Amino acid sequence: MPFSKLGLSSPIVKAIKELGYKKPTPVQEQAIPIILSGKDLIATAQTGTGKTAAFVLPTLERFNKVGTLRGKRIRALILTPTRELAVQVEANVALYSKHLKLTSMAVYGGVDMEAQKERLIEGVDILVATPGRLLDLAHQRALHFDELEVLVLDEADRMIDMGFAENLYKILDRLPERRQNLLFSATMTDSVRALANEFSDSKVSDQA
Ligand code: AMP
Repeated sequence: MPFSKLGLSSPIVKAIKELGYKKPTPVQEQAIPIILSGKDLIATAQTGTGKTAAFVLPTLERFNKVGTLRGKRIRALILTPTRELAVQVEANVALYSKHLKLTSMAVYGGVDMEAQKERLIEGVDILVATPGRLLDLAHQRALHFDELEVLVLDEADRMIDMGFAENLYKILDRLPERRQNLLFSATMTDSVRALANEFSDSKVSDQA
């Protein structure tokens, strides 16, 4: 099945064609229509399966559909366990949104917070973050989630293994209740299930 048949519009299809993607991977074929329908999704997917595009592409489509006019508020928050993954996911967001007027940024610990705060003031549509730095920035009132529409937990099992569960629950408390929740995890452990049940109405199911 071609990408265009999945319900993605031409600026997005053009960007992925330019990257040389010929057709969707299985996780993309399964997840993209569900995410486009606005439903929550809990999916098991390993690294290397194309899971990043599986959640980024339909999120871009959602924002493209409602128009590119925007305020300065965060519309999608993607949480990742590590700085490396945050950087990599944000790089993909930038590539996939090349033909859209959307901005993205990655924030993570270990670097100066002031520069991140300055950039956040300018406004960011899609924020990719590690949980600790996200909470630090939130405590300093550098983040506004009142227009948040989509939350993604990427590599949820790894975030829990790294001890971020408490931070994740604190972050959930700060987000608007009405939002789309997407959770991707390599394994579906009890603690991942508990997190999924806490944040989403959707049933836990295996996607790939
Ligand atoms: P991920 O599982 O998200 O880390 O993606 C693994 C790699 O597959 C990344 O380098 C992506 O750029 C690439 N990729 C994702 N989707 C596709 C696709 N449909 N066709 C070809 N490569 C892809």
